Amino acid sequence: MAADTVSLDTLTAFAKRRGFIFPGSELYGGVPGLYDYGPYGVELARNIRAAWWRAMVQEDERIVGIDSAIVTHPKVWEASGHVAGFSDPLVECKACGARARADHLLEGVGVAADERMSVEELNERFNAHRAEIACPSCGARDFTAVRMVNLLVQTNLGNFSDEWRKEPAYLRGETCQGIYLNFKNVLDTTRVKVPFGIAQIGKAFRNEISPRQFIFRKREFEQMEMQFFVHPDDEMRFFEEWRARRWEFYRTLGFREESLRWHEHENLVFYAKAAWDIEFRFPFGFKELEGIHARGDYDLTQHQKYSGQKLEYFDAATGERYVPHVVETSVGLDRLFFAVLTEFYDEDVMGGETRVVLRVPYALAPVKAAVFPLLKNKPALVAKAREIFNTLKGHLMCEFDDNGNIGKRYRRQDEIGTPYCVTVDFETLEGSEKDTVTVRVRDTGAQRRVPLNRLVAALTEEAPHRG
Ligand SMILES: [Zn+2]
Repeated sequence: MAADTVSLDTLTAFAKRRGFIFPGSELYGGVPGLYDYGPYGVELARNIRAAWWRAMVQEDERIVGIDSAIVTHPKVWEASGHVAGFSDPLVECKACGARARADHLLEGVGVAADERMSVEELNERFNAHRAEIACPSCGARDFTAVRMVNLLVQTNLGNFSDEWRKEPAYLRGETCQGIYLNFKNVLDTTRVKVPFGIAQIGKAFRNEISPRQFIFRKREFEQMEMQFFVHPDDEMRFFEEWRARRWEFYRTLGFREESLRWHEHENLVFYAKAAWDIEFRFPFGFKELEGIHARGDYDLTQHQKYSGQKLEYFDAATGERYVPHVVETSVGLDRLFFAVLTEFYDEDVMGGETRVVLRVPYALAPVKAAVFPLLKNKPALVAKAREIFNTLKGHLMCEFDDNGNIGKRYRRQDEIGTPYCVTVDFETLEGSEKDTVTVRVRDTGAQRRVPLNRLVAALTEEAPHRG
């Protein structure tokens, strides 16, 4: 299957050509690490968010959602450790000035390294392999020493002096801090009891040194995070529950078993009990898609310390008072979007012609049904197709298309993953098949006639999305 081998270049070109992803500020030459979602991209992204929210907030009564502000009190990022320690190792090419991540360059020559290593450790490894490491831009082998640079994006909010850099505000580096900030509010205003979760979807920002690999590593990105608050004794039990649940989420979305794998972190931050990633097979190999972490009570105790406010849970049944431990699940919307395109992009041959088909499950499809008049120049067909489209659009996302021949319209809809195409022909208007239309299925090309009074039902049923 082509989905096994789709290249990054093919996917990037496809995403732009069909209006899924545009390079950010392209009019001005683009900005690394910034991308915009186009008309079909925004629909697919909305459907991905909805699938995640449904699995978390709708289907699990223990979980509630919030939407916290992007800018917080600056102290939040001191408490979280981001001001002091949220950094990546930078080296600069002395020949051309190109900047790169030391850990990525080391990995490139087969040396294990990651951003959690100390700067001394990284320099030691980098120095030992300097002769092998060439600049990705110019090929020179002459780099500066490794230094750590902070990834938080600074901003100014409500500080009208020229000195605002001395006390900057920050665009959030992760969404979960907003969840910790509202732990007490949620506890005090809803009926949640430990164990319970708070879910959030929202933008986060990181000054990535070298954003690359399409939308895999963006400077402005979107996270879908859930913090599950548990009794300290139950942390690992719930960690295992969430590992299983999150794996199942991807399988339910239609990801193949062989596209996913587990990766256990060996180099844990000091407070973490366990950290596992679900990795997805991107066009450049298996990389992190989602992280599932047992974080202990680190985050809440840090905020207790910095805010001076108690962040405890009182168990009325046992009389016990404690700071809950946290199991976190965290996935990037943009990465999942990238994974969906990679997983479901396919090329096959139908009717003797090669076609591109996005085999996304129904729930994720940007457009659920397209409505065509068989011929553009027959007013009666166009009027009837318009009438059907106007009825359908109140029920599902659909599109009207009368451009080019029917074959071309099918190809266009196959490319964007539309599960059903509805064609209004002369039989729809009169004769024994009056008030029926042709419904054609994306994956198989199979066609059947459906009476108009059953059309909405026929187009909302979930069709198997893999042939
Ligand atoms: Zn260079």
